[in-house]
Amino acid sequence: MTRGLTLPHSIWPRLEPGWVWLCGAGPGDPGLLTLHALNALQQADVVIYDALVQEDILSWAPQAEHIYAGKRGGKPSAKQRDISLRLVDLARAGKRVLRLKGGDPFVFGRGGEEAQTLVQHEIPIRIIPGISAGIGGLAYAGIPVTHRDVNQSVTFVTGHDQSGNTPGSLDWASISKGSQVIVIYMGMKHIAQIAAKLIAAGRPLSEPIAVVTTATTADQKVLETTLGQVVDDIAQSGMEPPAIICVGGSVLMRQVLDWQSQAAGQAPRNLDPLNRGRPAESA
Ligand code: SAH
Repeated sequence: MTRGLTLPHSIWPRLEPGWVWLCGAGPGDPGLLTLHALNALQQADVVIYDALVQEDILSWAPQAEHIYAGKRGGKPSAKQRDISLRLVDLARAGKRVLRLKGGDPFVFGRGGEEAQTLVQHEIPIRIIPGISAGIGGLAYAGIPVTHRDVNQSVTFVTGHDQSGNTPGSLDWASISKGSQVIVIYMGMKHIAQIAAKLIAAGRPLSEPIAVVTTATTADQKVLETTLGQVVDDIAQSGMEPPAIICVGGSVLMRQVLDWQSQAAGQAPRNLDPLNRGRPAESA
């Protein structure tokens, strides 16, 4: 599959034995890998990958051993410490190690922790950023994470902390007031609590909200609703994680920018969803 995509080794970085490259795989669609990720896949002896990495991507590293380090089918997830130490062991054994994580390794992906352990064990590393679900996943749903007519700020939050609860350390009231658009990772389990907190902090019941599951894959599903309705609508839709949730006016832009439905032949629902009454290109 990669034959036509071979990168010239003379100008691309070499993954040397004993090194670990910590690499983002993007949100799902293999086309959203970076060229550095492809370069790494082509050279690795071992690829250690997470649950959210699409298996298609691994076929780009046929020469490598593929090691799964995530949670699937209800099995307990590999412990973070064990994964980090496994990376150390593989590097010390002289392998070219590619640690492949969903989205961007440094966005709610524990990449910082793994990288720190590697450096503490004197393993040389390279970091390869990826397209994070909170940006690229929303783009595939036709939702721009910023838009001049909507927001000058966006806040990325996680819906649960290390203990699995809604993060107690988050000041939801301040986030509600200060950030026009809020993008929530891992928010499905606690969506009822999160919605209640945002409403209590003054966000209106009519606030637009979108839920995008398995974004950028063939199974992508999008729910457009409101803060007041989101809990019921998710329950009714039967949608399951992984989901990225976007709260704020930029969700309305999907009415004009749902490019996947348009590619399938549907007309745009509304050419001016923010009611600006002027062509978008005028300042
Ligand atoms: N490092 C990743 C995030 C890992 S946390 C990144 O940058 O995207 C895992 C959470 O990311 C999921 O619970 C979900 O909220 C989000 N996520 C990752 N991939 C996704 C996808 N394809 N569709 C929807 N949400 C996704």
